[in-house]
Amino acid sequence: MVCRVFGRQDKICLPLARSRAGPVYCRSGFRIPQISADVAVLKTMKIHEYQAKEILAKYGVAVPRGEMANTLEEATAVARTLFAEGASGVVVKAQIHAGGRGKGGGVKVARTREEAELYAKNILGMQLVTHQTGPQGQKVQRLLVEETAAIDRELYLGIVLDRATGKLVFMASKAGGMEIEEVAAKDPDAIFKETIDPAVGFGAWQARKLAFALGLKPTQINHAVAFLQSLYKAFIDTDASLVEINPFITTKDDKLFALDAKITFDDNALFRHADIKALRDTAEEDPLEVEASKYALNYIKLDGSIACMVNGAGLAMATMDIIQYAGGSPANFLDVGGGATQEQIEHAFEILLSDANVKAIFINIFGGILRVDRLATGVVAAALKLKVTVPIVLRLEGTNVEEGRKILKESGLNFQVGATMKEAAELVVRAAGGR
Ligand code: GDP
Ligand code: MN
Repeated sequence: MVCRVFGRQDKICLPLARSRAGPVYCRSGFRIPQISADVAVLKTMKIHEYQAKEILAKYGVAVPRGEMANTLEEATAVARTLFAEGASGVVVKAQIHAGGRGKGGGVKVARTREEAELYAKNILGMQLVTHQTGPQGQKVQRLLVEETAAIDRELYLGIVLDRATGKLVFMASKAGGMEIEEVAAKDPDAIFKETIDPAVGFGAWQARKLAFALGLKPTQINHAVAFLQSLYKAFIDTDASLVEINPFITTKDDKLFALDAKITFDDNALFRHADIKALRDTAEEDPLEVEASKYALNYIKLDGSIACMVNGAGLAMATMDIIQYAGGSPANFLDVGGGATQEQIEHAFEILLSDANVKAIFINIFGGILRVDRLATGVVAAALKLKVTVPIVLRLEGTNVEEGRKILKESGLNFQVGATMKEAAELVVRAAGGR
């Protein structure tokens, strides 16, 4: 699994090692600050480039003139207006929740209105494949049509949380237009970083340092400082988890623009940003995750074959680890929460079972607020109602565990129960067909 510090591909950081006293490391070797649940679940909400640019524009960040289009007619109208207003060209850009669109054929520069119309026709509705969409690609349902810029240099700007220090880092690089992970791997010195002290904020002197490091001209420096500060303000105000401008460009006439923009938001803070929450585009998300969010289930789809039903994020993480340790691979992360109701358990079952890759289900519950007997009743009811045919392995501990075991035994259904977490993990890996 790949690191999610940049919000890419992978959806969660799995702790590699965990101990009460010591630090926690994710699989990519990043130190995870210990929070209450002892784990870091990085759930973020993504938005489209056109939405990110609208937000940034409110903070005074310069973005090219343009508009979103849902249909070919709308796209043509935007292109016509831009040309009529004097644009020398327009760029037609696929709006999907993934980067790498340029290489995948989702970004095209048109010199005439006819050309723009042709590109819009080709891109709208296409199944766009990039390194971030997976081989199946993502259907393009929206376009952004913008005035082209006379690019002089393509640079990179990004703000992320550095989990090692627990502070935000402002990154800048001359290698814009390239994937920053690629730059980090090949030439880490090519990324300039300024760590931000949360008590002080992002200082003008830091913005200035980055602007000089990027080799900007003296005439561009002050403008760049304001640009970087606006990005930081937007990040803080919106409770973002990532702001990335790639490329951040300079033009031949010395102007600066955010040519591309990516913002993701911390899910945990969305309750105080109704306007941002409204930007969610569920058409871009995994349908099972959308379904799960309706029932307040913390579900993240993964690629393995063993479905997990667990209460508590820490136990869910540990469950995924032990499945891997036993030689299997988890089909999902699912935290049904401390006080799950029978109805939630049924919905959770439905969601787990709608994943065609699932070969076995592992229910790993520690009965606290959610008593084991109540869970067992819910599991039996759901298994009967949904006519579950895949093997189910349980590991139960906690309040009313004996009553729970009895309910399972007397149900007449074929559940396997592991005495320990390790034994249950081995049972479920075997039930799913092993490695
Ligand atoms: P991404 O591939 O998903 O990151 O999409 P970007 O918006 O970053 O576009 C990819 C590349 O297309 C950029 O790095 C630019 O080189 C190019 N591009 C995007 N917009 C324009 C534009 O207005 N004019 C020109 N000439 N190139 C552009
Ligand atoms: Mn880009």
